[in-house]
Amino acid sequence: MRVHMPSLYVHVPFCIQKCDYCAFYSLPFRSSLDLSSLYLEGLEIEMAKRQKDAPQGVSSLFIGGGTPTVLGDRDLERLLEMIQRYFRLNLGAESTVEGNPGTITESKLAILERCGINRFSLGVQAFDDRLLKAVGRRHTASQAREAIGRLRAAGFKNINLDLMFGLPAQDMEAWQASLEEALSYSPEHLSLYGLMLEEGTPLYERYGGKTSDKMNNRLLPDDDLQAEMHDWAVERLKQAGYGHYETSNFARPGFECQHNLGYWRGEDYLGLGPGGVSCIKRVRWKNIEDARVYHDHLQSGQDPFEEAGPEALSLRECMAERIILGLRLEEGVNLNSFKRDFGRDVRDIYKDVLERYYHRGVLVIEGEYLQLNPNYSFIANTILQEFV
Ligand code: SF4
Repeated sequence: MRVHMPSLYVHVPFCIQKCDYCAFYSLPFRSSLDLSSLYLEGLEIEMAKRQKDAPQGVSSLFIGGGTPTVLGDRDLERLLEMIQRYFRLNLGAESTVEGNPGTITESKLAILERCGINRFSLGVQAFDDRLLKAVGRRHTASQAREAIGRLRAAGFKNINLDLMFGLPAQDMEAWQASLEEALSYSPEHLSLYGLMLEEGTPLYERYGGKTSDKMNNRLLPDDDLQAEMHDWAVERLKQAGYGHYETSNFARPGFECQHNLGYWRGEDYLGLGPGGVSCIKRVRWKNIEDARVYHDHLQSGQDPFEEAGPEALSLRECMAERIILGLRLEEGVNLNSFKRDFGRDVRDIYKDVLERYYHRGVLVIEGEYLQLNPNYSFIANTILQEFV
C-alpha cells in the first residue's frame, strides 16, 4: 500500500527589510518584533490542528520565507522544536532552512545542526554590491562569502545558492563573474532565477510601471540578453557537472532538492504559517497573508484560511497540473504514477495534444516518462497551455 506522506513547508514571514522586487509575503523584522511571538503562538496552534494531515509523518521539511534566519536564537529553536513535536520526519530525510547573508550566525547554525537541519539554501543573488543595491537587497557580497564559509565550517554538506540574472545594469560579464564565483565554492545545488517585475513592487514602479522613466528602462537587460545569460549558465553548469533537473534548478548528482521534486511530481504538501499553501488529497487551501489575523483566527479556534476557503480540485485540474509541473522536470511526467493516481492513461486523455507535438519531436516518451524536448523549452508555456 502507498504510504501517504506530504512534504512540510513552514513559512516565516519576516526579513531584515523588504527587497525592491519582492512580491512574497514578508514583513520588515525590526518593526514586527511583537509579531514574531504572535506568529509562533499561531503556528503552534496550526501545527496541532494540521498534524492529522500527516499521520505517517512528513517526507521532507522546508522552512522558507521570508528569511527564517532573521529570527532570534530562542525563537528559531522554539520553531524547530515545535516541528519536531508535531511532525515525524524520518532520520536522514531532507530538511532545509532558507536564509540570507547578514543573518547567519554561528549560534544559529549550531541550533540548526542540533535540530537535524541537513540542507541550507542561501539567497546570494549576486556577488556584486552594485547589483545587490540596485534591487534593494540589504546584504553585501562579502556577507555572502562569509555566510558560505560559516555554513561549511558548521558542517553543512548540502548547500544551495540562489542567483539572479536580468538585474538592472547587469551585463553578461557581471553575470558570468557571479556564477563563476558561486562555482568556486562548489555548492551542491544552484537555483537561477530571472528577475521578474511584479506589479506593486518598487522595482516595478521604477522600471515597468506607468511612471517609470525611459532612461531607467534601458538599464534592464532585454529579453534576448536574459535568454543568452540563461543559456550560457546552462552550458557552463553542464560542463561543471551539474544536472539541469528542473527549469531553474541545477544539482550535482544525488543533490536534487527532494522537497521541490515532490511538489513538481504532484505529491501532497502541507504549508503552514501566514501565506502557506497546502494541497492534501486534491483539496487546496491558502492561509491568510497577515500574521496578526492568522494568529487571531487560530487563537479563537478558526482556520486561518483566505476568504475563498479550501477548494476541491477537479480530476481534470489535477491531471493538468501534474503534466504542467512534471514537464518542468528533466525526467518529465511519470506515466505509471499518473495512471496509478488518476486511473487514466495520459496518452488517452491528451491524445490530440500529444499527437500534435509528439510527431514534431517536441514531446518525447522515454521509457515510462513523458518529457519536453529541452530544445523547445522556449515555447514551453504555449505547449503547457494546451493541457489546461
Ligand atoms: S529576502 Fe527574499 S523574501 Fe525577503 S524581502 Fe527579499 S526577496 Fe522578499
